[in-house]
Order: sequence, then structure tokens, then C-alpha cells
Amino acid sequence: MNKKSLIAQIGEPILRKKTKDVDPCDIKTHKIKRIIKQLIKIMRLCNGAGLAANQIYYNYRMCVLEIENNKRYKHLPKLPLKILINPRIKIIDKKNTFDSYEGCLSVPNLRGKVKRNCKIKVDYFDENAKFKSEVIEGYLAVVFQHEIDHLDGVIFTDKVIDNKSLVTYENYKKFYEKKYLLELKNRFNR
Ligand code: ZN
Repeated sequence: MNKKSLIAQIGEPILRKKTKDVDPCDIKTHKIKRIIKQLIKIMRLCNGAGLAANQIYYNYRMCVLEIENNKRYKHLPKLPLKILINPRIKIIDKKNTFDSYEGCLSVPNLRGKVKRNCKIKVDYFDENAKFKSEVIEGYLAVVFQHEIDHLDGVIFTDKVIDNKSLVTYENYKKFYEKKYLLELKNRFNR
């Protein structure tokens, strides 16, 4: 199977559309359950920390997140599988930001620095159609913002603070990863 063709790549119009809310009454339908299953399967197959429905060509406001010994993002804290339906973010502390070095399964071989908030509130429905409201802090907040941006048609490259921070994955590993891991450690005590 060609992993790349499973995931919409930058330039695909669906990545730029604001996704449609899922009717909470539909969350337990076969159709939505099937999309959630697919999201989880493809995220794991591609070693992503998250995947949004529009990245696999479904125009729905939902995404999945999971961080378990991720090969692409060794520095990330662990996060058990999370299914977010109709997630909405509220920034709690606007002054608390972090410049995060990000990559994306929809943007091949590129990393760049994006300013993210470190304390947010996320309102969403889970896969059992239960409404939840959670405060997410630290580096996990960064991961949530990247994924939920996708649902608004936003890709991390839109938010890169300085174009000079754009690097290939190989060069990120070679020249920047060490320093960045140190920044993370100092900031989030990881
Ligand atoms: Zn992404």
C-alpha cells in the first residue's frame, strides 16, 4: 500500500476547507464509526501523532491523536488514543507560548517553527457522543492545536514564524533536533 496516497498532500483543496460539524446524533452511526476506525488505522500506519478527517478526504470536524513511542516524534509526551469530534479550542493563557518545531503527514519532508499556546481548553464530543471539556497544558496543547487547525483548513506552514526555520526532515535531524530537544526539556521539564 502506498502510504502517501492515503493522506491528502498540501495543495489538495479539501485541506483548505473548514470542515463540517458532525451532528452529535450521528456519532454512533456506522458511517462515523467507520471513519474513526480509518483515522486510527492510517495514523498508526504512518506514525503520525494525530490525523484529521480532511487529511483522509472526509469533510468532517473530527480528528484522532495518539502518542506511543512515536518514531517521528521521539520528544513527545505519551498520550493515549484520543478521539475528538467537533473540537473547539479556547486559549486560556495568551502569554504562555512556545515555538514548536512541527511537521505534518500532509506536508512531505518539511519541518518549521510555529508559535503555539501552552494552556488551552478543548470542548469536544468523544466517540460515545459524550460532551467533554478539558484543559490541556504543556506540549500536548501544541499537538492538539496542530490537529484542530487542520479542521479549520489551516496547515502549520501558514503559521511558520520565520521562513528560515523551514528545513527538510533530514536537516532537522542533522542540525536542529539536538538544540530543540534541549529547549523542550528546559521548558517542559521532560
Ligand atoms: Zn498535520
